[in-house]
Amino acid sequence: MINPPPELTLSARLARAITLGGPISLAQFMATANTAYYAIRDPLGAAGDFITAPEISQMFGELIGLWLADLSARAGNPPESPKPHYVELGPGRGTLAVDALRAGAKAGFTPSVHFVETSPTLRAAQATALSAVLADAHWHDDISTLPTDAPLLVVANEFFDALPVHQLVKGADGWHQRLVACQDELFLPIAGKRVPDDVIPADLRAAPLGAVIETCPLAVQIVADLAARIAHQGGALLIIDYGYEGPAIGDTLQAVRAHKYANPYEAVGAQDLTCHVDFATLAAAGARAGLRVSALADQGAWLNALGIKARAEALIAGAGGRVEATVADSVAAALHRLTAPDQMGTLFKVMALVSEDWPEAAGF
Ligand code: SAH
Repeated sequence: MINPPPELTLSARLARAITLGGPISLAQFMATANTAYYAIRDPLGAAGDFITAPEISQMFGELIGLWLADLSARAGNPPESPKPHYVELGPGRGTLAVDALRAGAKAGFTPSVHFVETSPTLRAAQATALSAVLADAHWHDDISTLPTDAPLLVVANEFFDALPVHQLVKGADGWHQRLVACQDELFLPIAGKRVPDDVIPADLRAAPLGAVIETCPLAVQIVADLAARIAHQGGALLIIDYGYEGPAIGDTLQAVRAHKYANPYEAVGAQDLTCHVDFATLAAAGARAGLRVSALADQGAWLNALGIKARAEALIAGAGGRVEATVADSVAAALHRLTAPDQMGTLFKVMALVSEDWPEAAGF
């Protein structure tokens, strides 16, 4: 009997594809790596690769739930109108949704729940999390199947940073698309074909040799499509991520594994690849669809404006008894981590794109 050939690792498969077909774009590399990465693991938490704001404290999701409840209530819900839809893009373990829906429900916000998630492993974690609060969700592979009958209240925390990015690199003779090549099963970035100067924003063309510009077509497409829906159906899109007001010069591709930075071209599919989010470009896509775009707030300032300190005090006061000191310490530590300028307070940004027929969003 002939044994079947041993199954190739993702790295070996990708190496073979590049050897046969030639170098691929950085975006293809990132998409392949991240799809494999998220498909089979829960990367969040101390035992994983990284931690996100909702996993740091329940206060984060609760304030988002109250923000949604407030916006939705002020928009006015005629009794006969269909319930709004809570939509989360890349909900991770479902922690943010559970905290937001619990807090929102106390303020009369009881939407149906829709998760846009590609990872089977994380879908299972999300279902378990939701079952604890007796909620049910509808899962979607992408935004095209979201309902069309009622306002969409969309939340995306650390979602857009995981989407595949193209990089353009300045060479001696002009700008080139960055490609990923492979030598002896090692991946490395190389300069691909030259692109016309018109591809580069005029004020950035004279950047020095080696300068990098990033662009994320999938993020713009998703925001443009959602914005068109929200303009028509009502609602809002809340984006929280680390990012900048671009386009700008800078290579922000990074890999994180076991809470440490790693080489993004190594361990394909075994580490989290991200790029900073270009908020200005996403804002422009929302504005073009007719949505009202908020200011770009620092996460710390936004959470403070929504009253995170009062929520922290309430949690501490509610603890009582012997656990009080420990709870107070951990709530204070979480508050610091989420809001302090040297922690997540200024690196992370918040932006809301809201239907023109809806009221101004709080906190900006
Ligand atoms: N929002 C969560 C998780 C962030 S990790 C939190 O704050 O904890 C990124 C999430 O996006 C994961 O759930 C991942 O599976 C999902 N994801 C990544 N790329 C995706 C894509 N193209 N479509 C849908 N979900 C995606």
